[in-house]
Amino acid sequence: MNIEYFKKTLKSIMDIPSPSGYTKEAMHYIQNELTQMGYTPSMNHKGNLYVKVSGSNHDHPIAFSAHCDTLGLMVRSIKDNGTLAITTIGGPCLPTLDGEYCTVITRDNKRYSGTILSTSPSVHVFKDASTVARDIDHMIVRIDEVVNSKDDVLKLGINNGDIIAYDPKTTFCESGYIKSRFLDDKLCVAIQLAVLKALSDNKMVPSQDTWFCFSSYEEVGHGASWLPQEIETFISVDMGCVGEDLSCKETQVSICAKDSGGPYDYDLVSTMIELSKTNHIDYVVDIYPMYGSDTGAALRGGNNIKGGLIGPGVAASHGMERSHMDGVNATYGLIMALMGL
Ligand SMILES: [Zn+2]
Repeated sequence: MNIEYFKKTLKSIMDIPSPSGYTKEAMHYIQNELTQMGYTPSMNHKGNLYVKVSGSNHDHPIAFSAHCDTLGLMVRSIKDNGTLAITTIGGPCLPTLDGEYCTVITRDNKRYSGTILSTSPSVHVFKDASTVARDIDHMIVRIDEVVNSKDDVLKLGINNGDIIAYDPKTTFCESGYIKSRFLDDKLCVAIQLAVLKALSDNKMVPSQDTWFCFSSYEEVGHGASWLPQEIETFISVDMGCVGEDLSCKETQVSICAKDSGGPYDYDLVSTMIELSKTNHIDYVVDIYPMYGSDTGAALRGGNNIKGGLIGPGVAASHGMERSHMDGVNATYGLIMALMGL
């Protein structure tokens, strides 16, 4: 794997805000990358990107899919004191947002910096500064403009329904750890781009026709609900869960046998276990207690597929996430093995 390309790409994608419903700019970046590699990506109506790589066989097309959309916030209403009430996009771990820097993106593409705070943000002023619930009704955005009223905010062009993107804070550590928000699932977007780069740079041909999908709207449940009809096997490449009652570490690739939507395709899971063993890939099999994937969305959307889910272990998911380059490499290795490369 081209580590330099992977890191550069991950950082670039992280720097482009893409909460569900606002993925256009990030998709445009991916589209450009793919075009530069010599691919011809196509986009469906809802904004998912697809690229097909011809294989040496055409009878069992396979697809890998990573989602480009992330968690985020939206302006719910403007308060009389000039702060913004918020609503969530997807399911962030709200208390972790207290104190985060963010950007409000208006409909006419003005950008204002701000900070996500509780409604009792000063210990010198509020007795409940430390204890107030960090829930959606007790958190606001303070924008960095001189505003004292709702009218002042409206004059800036900020309105209900504007996107609020919070900073990812992407950091590559010497030890191989990568810490950032939105590793779910931009980490796997970057892995898929690194795979596609390797295929194009080295003129590698997968054993079957292979699709790569970059979906939007995964965090809100319907990312890959529509798929090109010929796809037979569909594998979501998305974060592996790390924590209590789970085997996966951030240094491994997780093969999910079952999540909240039920079991994944039995034979496909068995195949992926066997491929990991023969290729000496550091893997685990896990059950995710509270998780839904794009494979579930695809199945519920009526697609006739065998479905799987793999991905690098990501700790503290939907909060301050962390993974490791070893987990990235293991995931990359399993994708290559599934393509017979
Ligand atoms: Zn995800």
